[in-house]
Amino acid sequence: MPARLIDGRAHARAIRAQLQAAVASHRNQRPPGITVIQVGDDTASTIYVRGKHKAAEEAGFSSAIEHLQHSTQENLNSRIDRLAADPAVDGILLQMPLPKGLDPDQALERIPPHKDVDGLHPYNAGRLAQGNPTFVPATPLGVLELLRREGIDPTGKHAVVVGRSRLVGRPLALLLLQNHATVTVAHSQSADLAAITRSADILVAATGRAGLITADYVRPGAVVIDVGITRDPATNKLIGDVDRASVEPIASALTPVPGGVGPMTIAMLLVNTYRAYRQHLSAP
Ligand code: NAP
Repeated sequence: MPARLIDGRAHARAIRAQLQAAVASHRNQRPPGITVIQVGDDTASTIYVRGKHKAAEEAGFSSAIEHLQHSTQENLNSRIDRLAADPAVDGILLQMPLPKGLDPDQALERIPPHKDVDGLHPYNAGRLAQGNPTFVPATPLGVLELLRREGIDPTGKHAVVVGRSRLVGRPLALLLLQNHATVTVAHSQSADLAAITRSADILVAATGRAGLITADYVRPGAVVIDVGITRDPATNKLIGDVDRASVEPIASALTPVPGGVGPMTIAMLLVNTYRAYRQHLSAP
């Protein structure tokens, strides 16, 4: 039987509708506020930033984009400091990648951890590593939420994460560990990747290498989560790390690209921002 396709769009829609209702219930209070800072003109980043802005506005958030064509480190830092001090801003997101010459670590460390809705500040990354997460990056959080909503319990399963970036692979491995999976992390230097991935009950591909994961890399019956997003130059369509045509007949469940993990990333960013908002409202 071919794999069940996991409909990330439908799950994300449901989460966003819940958030919209929750925001509407705060009748006499300010709305949750999120600001995305984008530096430079990376086309993919512009598309992602617009998608986040639109979803935030639809959910009733106050959303702003600070788009700087160019910036010095000092200017970027001072923008972050201003947003950090603004009581109407609950979440600050610095869109990656930054142009060459700007230091992402220096910028990220200026975001107060309680406004770090992308979970990239060392404080939040450290909390996750210690098994006591606060704000977790939206994509890994979205993967866990998809598994939960699909009734796939990671407990006792062997989860293999291909990719070790700080935005996706690394925090996802920690989250799976937190959720009682036995976790293996593979990367570009791993020897015999196929042998590693074939032992996975849950296989997550987060490499940005289109079509890397073919049927030879997948154990029959495995759950396959495709985080990768690449634009196919031949068709201009978005494709994932998983070769869907060969994997779909043998996996038990599979996230499509587009329409799998991507929509969940935006939904979970809003979930994180709403959490920050609730904390800020209740802070003395
Ligand atoms: P990244 O920072 O470039 O990291 C890619 C990771 O994949 C690295 O750890 C790299 O290993 C590993 N890798 C590369 N080629 C490999 C190979 N042939 N075999 C095994 N491992 C390999 O990328 P990222 O930010 O994690 O993003 C990964 C993908 O997810 C991209 O396609 C990105 O567009 C997509 N993405 C999607 C969403 C979403 O919402 N769906 C969100 C974020 C990112 P090394 O560490 O050894 O270099």
